[in-house]
Amino acid sequence: MSSDKIAVYPGSFDPITMGHVDIVERGLRVFDRIVIAVAVNTTKTGLFTLEERKALIEKTFENYPNVEVALFEGLLVDFLRIRNIKSILRGLRAISDFDYEFQIAGMNNTLCPDVDTVFLMTSQKYYYISSSVIKEVARFGGNIAELVPAPVYEALSTRFAKVK
Ligand code: ADP
Repeated sequence: MSSDKIAVYPGSFDPITMGHVDIVERGLRVFDRIVIAVAVNTTKTGLFTLEERKALIEKTFENYPNVEVALFEGLLVDFLRIRNIKSILRGLRAISDFDYEFQIAGMNNTLCPDVDTVFLMTSQKYYYISSSVIKEVARFGGNIAELVPAPVYEALSTRFAKVK
């Protein structure tokens, strides 16, 4: 029996950015373990496949024994139920995130009342970063080296090598 405080950090992570990494690092001050859960979202097609996204996150956190990476399909609350986890970790950047996050947190709490969403605010350094902006800039050869983990930088450089 472990009394570890565990949270699931769900998202698309297409790809993981330093904004996400910042939230995980802050989250580890609050939780003993974090499960980064990559959503198998049937309506969104990503730049990277789910397996690629998972591998990039694993590489990014290879020296963090308390970070696990998983894929989940269907309802997030079902994933939490199976794992017997009661906390969801989400990051907040700006007011624009709030409305969406508020709805999702409310819905998850309705579906599963013993689950809470914990929001952490990103470092000011990263508040403007999103996976989609990173992809846009990388596609046209902009320098995003400081904004993504090294394995993601390599993967984006390879992917967009032809465009540069
Ligand atoms: P989703 O498709 O679920 O929004 P994302 O991968 O875009 O998945 O984001 C996952 C979570 O990480 C969300 O809570 C989002 O607000 C948060 N997040 C994304 N980028 C940043 C950032 N730069 N700083 C803080 N939180 C972030």
